[in-house]
Amino acid sequence: MSIYSNNDLLMLSGIQHIAFCERQWALIHIEQQWHENVLTVEGKQLHSRVDDPLIKTKSGHSTMHRSVPLVSFRLGLAGCADVVEFLQTDSKQNSISLPGKDGLWQPLPIEYKRGKPKPDDRDEVQLCAQAMCLEELYAIRISEGFLYYGEIRHRLEICFDEKLRSRVTSLAERMHELYTNGVSPQPVYKPHCRSCSLFDICLPVRLSRPERATDYLNDVLEI
Ligand code: SF4
Repeated sequence: MSIYSNNDLLMLSGIQHIAFCERQWALIHIEQQWHENVLTVEGKQLHSRVDDPLIKTKSGHSTMHRSVPLVSFRLGLAGCADVVEFLQTDSKQNSISLPGKDGLWQPLPIEYKRGKPKPDDRDEVQLCAQAMCLEELYAIRISEGFLYYGEIRHRLEICFDEKLRSRVTSLAERMHELYTNGVSPQPVYKPHCRSCSLFDICLPVRLSRPERATDYLNDVLEI
């Protein structure tokens, strides 16, 4: 596994984009394109309301830290966790000390999303990447975290198993590979393109069907 430097770090939140579509990630993070659609605007509004009662501290045995900065030099990613919940524990294993607080604490990352659980794993990989950053920072192992969905007002427990961890690692490696090459992949038109904020910039229908591009050029050139 590579160890990256400060100058190599890419945005951690981009891992959800590349898990959804490599081209979307490249358009945002290489070509600096960004279009807000309903989904992204609502997502921002939800992030600004992370004081939802479902995640309020319930007792003196847990505490919430919001907007927690994160970095992993193994993954080459840096970003921020919406919330990290620290649960008080008696176990010395996989626990840490917190400044100004007695006892030992076990960190659990929590990420807030609009809508409901998605048909792909983009939210899970983002949360797992956050956990892997916390693990590197504290030299501990974190076995689970939570995804909170605004539409269903419910949080789901996500287990950070080896399969999910290796998916995070391979997506992070692919982000660095694409960033180093500086070339956006060609579009592959799929049903999920219809909810993509970059649909009008990407032109997936036209660009992923060469015969249509040829027809278009023939029309323009009147061949
Ligand atoms: S429109 Fe489709 S191919 Fe293009 S970036 Fe979005 S998801 Fe990817």
